[in-house]
Amino acid sequence: MTQLSLRDVRKAFGSLEVIKGINLDVENGEFVVFVGPSGCGKSTMLRMIAGLEDLTSGQIDIAGHDVTRTPPSRREIAMVFQSYALFPHMTVAENIGFGLKLNKRPKEEISRRVGDVAGVLQIEALLERTPRELSGGQRQRVAIGRAIIREPKVFLFDEPLSNLDAALRVQMRLEIARLHKRLGATMIYVTHDQTEAMTLADRIVVFNHGRIEQVGAPMELYERPANMFVAGFIGAPA
Ligand code: ADP
Ligand code: MG
Repeated sequence: MTQLSLRDVRKAFGSLEVIKGINLDVENGEFVVFVGPSGCGKSTMLRMIAGLEDLTSGQIDIAGHDVTRTPPSRREIAMVFQSYALFPHMTVAENIGFGLKLNKRPKEEISRRVGDVAGVLQIEALLERTPRELSGGQRQRVAIGRAIIREPKVFLFDEPLSNLDAALRVQMRLEIARLHKRLGATMIYVTHDQTEAMTLADRIVVFNHGRIEQVGAPMELYERPANMFVAGFIGAPA
């Protein structure tokens, strides 16, 4: 089943056209990685999928429904950014449960689901701390926890590990892979890191100047790049 469908999506900021007709179908449960040089439109594309940015033209479908004009809160999508954006005055448990509280879920349900999510991310011992008392990797886990608890159909990650040191990045990459297997959710993941792209992706989408240069499985792009740009980008040392 197709979970996410982008149909001739375009975006201009004033006279600057940054997304120039993107077509892409993402299957349910697929892990798709967006790569491409800085400024080529990856974050803008994610923000449009999340509903945080209007399209200039085109259509976005989720699970077969046109959501082009659906507000972010009703898209069943969760986005994880590189800046953690946790609420500093709330505990970890309150941060994770915040979305459910907004939706007026009963206290017992919130506490049960926060516990479940904390178990998945192995942060049970941190639930009563505040973000200030956490390491970078722990904060990023909490940010992911806030996304998971909403049980979205699609997860969007915008360079979620780029603020972490190398060792932690490797560890978090393995955890994201484990999470993907466990949740079976559809994931779109933007990264600069070639190793992340090659190891996490079912398919890699190579962006350049608001267009897609090539879409394919990691080995396919590596062995049969469509052009010099893809070859340079995929083959370049990390
Ligand atoms: P990437 O994430 O691939 O680095 P972005 O999607 O952030 O690229 O940006 C693509 C282009 O759109 C860049 O030229 C950027 O300056 C421009 N851009 C992004 N957001 C805005 C905005 N709100 N207003 C004007 N230009 C923007
Ligand atoms: Mg970006």
